[in-house]
Amino acid sequence: MYIVAIVQARMGSMRFPNKVMQSIGIGVPMIEVLLSRLSKSKEIDKIILATSNDQCNKTLVEHVSGLGYDVYQGSENDVLDRYYKAAMEQKNLSAIVRITGDCPLVDPDIVDTVIKKYKSSDAEYVSNTNPPTYPDGMDVEVFSLFSLKMAWKNTKTQYEREHVTPFMRKPGKFKIENISNSKDYSDERLTVDSTEDLEVVREVFKYFHPKIDFSWLDIMKLRDGSPEIFMKNQHLVRNEGGVMSTGQKLWGRAKKVIPGGNMLLSKRAEIFLPGRWPTYFSKAKGCKIWDLDGREYIDMSIMGIGTNILGYGHPEVDAAVQKTIKNGNMSTFNCPEEVYLAEKLVEIHPWADMVRFARSGGEANAIAIRIARAATGKDKVAICGYHGWHDWYLSANLAENDRLDGHLLPGLEPKGVPRNLKDTALPFRYNNFSELATLVRNHDIGVIKMEVQRNEYPKDNFLEKVRSLATEKKIVLIFDECTSGFRETFGGLHKKYGVEPDMAIFGKSLGNGYAITATIGRKEVMEATQSTFISSTFWTERIGPTAALKTLEVMNQTKSWEKITAIGKNIEDKWRQLSKKYKLSIKINGLPSMTGFTFQSNNWLKYKTYITQEMLKNNILATNVIYICTEHTEKYIDRYFEVLEPIFKQIKECEEGKPIEQLLEGDVCHSGFQRLN
Ligand code: PMP
Repeated sequence: MYIVAIVQARMGSMRFPNKVMQSIGIGVPMIEVLLSRLSKSKEIDKIILATSNDQCNKTLVEHVSGLGYDVYQGSENDVLDRYYKAAMEQKNLSAIVRITGDCPLVDPDIVDTVIKKYKSSDAEYVSNTNPPTYPDGMDVEVFSLFSLKMAWKNTKTQYEREHVTPFMRKPGKFKIENISNSKDYSDERLTVDSTEDLEVVREVFKYFHPKIDFSWLDIMKLRDGSPEIFMKNQHLVRNEGGVMSTGQKLWGRAKKVIPGGNMLLSKRAEIFLPGRWPTYFSKAKGCKIWDLDGREYIDMSIMGIGTNILGYGHPEVDAAVQKTIKNGNMSTFNCPEEVYLAEKLVEIHPWADMVRFARSGGEANAIAIRIARAATGKDKVAICGYHGWHDWYLSANLAENDRLDGHLLPGLEPKGVPRNLKDTALPFRYNNFSELATLVRNHDIGVIKMEVQRNEYPKDNFLEKVRSLATEKKIVLIFDECTSGFRETFGGLHKKYGVEPDMAIFGKSLGNGYAITATIGRKEVMEATQSTFISSTFWTERIGPTAALKTLEVMNQTKSWEKITAIGKNIEDKWRQLSKKYKLSIKINGLPSMTGFTFQSNNWLKYKTYITQEMLKNNILATNVIYICTEHTEKYIDRYFEVLEPIFKQIKECEEGKPIEQLLEGDVCHSGFQRLN
């Protein structure tokens, strides 16, 4: 058998440019020590480097050629094609050893063990990563030219072409063998994917200098004696031949330059699936999202957190926006669309006379509070539900840190909110009228702000009672319809209940993904805007109102609120049927068009994590909540339930004693606001 090791390496990596030519700290570049260590293998007949034909690889090509190795240059991103063509250039080749350029500590003994297994078995693919038991950085894959050819011919997705071997590892394709170590070292990290990794590896080479052919077990001994050397990269997650997506790696970078990683808690990777969530999108259309590796998913989760009732990238809304971009989005003059949109919102809500626009829900809420306080001359606000991140709202947690728990997001910390605001925002629970009445009796409340409905339906004329109390006490009643608006009626959910507020706030879905939010209200309250100062540059841009006008037009034509409600009810029925079949006690909550379920179990958060984990493997984004859009057609719902059924079956087994921990492949998801490392 003629065995050729093909080492893949390139200089143009976005994550760590010029990585393979970085000095390893002993005067030679990383790629050189890698090739040198690999050349100690007794089973490999030839080693070649496969890099891309991008100009930036010039120094790499020159250096490696200068060392006497053959170099093949091929596709930058289609690594599978690069491998195949590099292999085809070799005469009499029978098997390929795949080594990646980020493993300078590759161990020739492990390589030989894997090759020997390949030679002695009839497997087409042998590795030590399936599952891994050796440290990350010791990965070896050996496969036949035939399996490489089959993968090259049959693999279509960008992800599979970039990672070369996923096709070969698919169940049922080839005979596969794995080499395992008796003790599991898979949590150890000896690969180089980041600067922290490089620092660790440099320390290792420095320690053994001038020897470079020390074994992986020598490194493990060093780790036992000097663990501090290995601390620097402990927080990084194993790549497992592509399990760690480009998105996850970018999320790691994000957390270093963006506190908390991003701008919205609900889109943190840890809220979904720590260490595994793809996190970033390259494209979104309808109810589908593509990640940075080109993998395609059906979004059965939060749909941009409720922004896109008409689906992502709605053609008519996008066309209207594109026209606006062509004609200009900003100028010294105002955009006429804001007037048309104000008129439209007032027409939809006849009790309201005037409108102010903003670009986020929190802003629109802060505007409403300022106007209402200005109108009443009173500071105190009774609140129920979630209303954004601003001082006026978060101040509720100054008194006791958990006052806002139960109002959607638990654990919100009020650090940075002036202590003087204590007791200006006073929470009451939904459907608890006497709690509100007590607040009104004991405090000089000027404003009541609440969501019309979130998880519970209103009971015992709750909304009507709140309205009467507000009217009686001359309190401004504000319905925050940021999330509930346009989901069940054409406009605010309050229209369904026939209870009219003095002000209402719309956000989320108003522009079908484009930023636009609105605060609407009765003239006598809204006029107070002129007695204070509420003004901002980008509230005058034109894309938001353009998108909203078209969104409202399409919603009205298609009766989107009816569609999404019907789809949601269908999903709820199917959840019920499935839970009945597996005798799981399920609780369904929320508006049908943004519905969710929980199981009554101490393991609930683990089950939720498990659902996301398994769904993701099947290219479905799912937690326990679905924000429905009009593009969630039957075929997607059917696919979702096809994948969900075996998950429910497993959960039932867990309820009967099987440890759920055995099924989880990573950490449990976060349940609310938590500090990130
Ligand atoms: N109010 C309600 C009812 C909401 O659901 C939200 C967002 N979840 C907000 C306000 C805040 O909106 P934003 O995140 O756009 O600031």
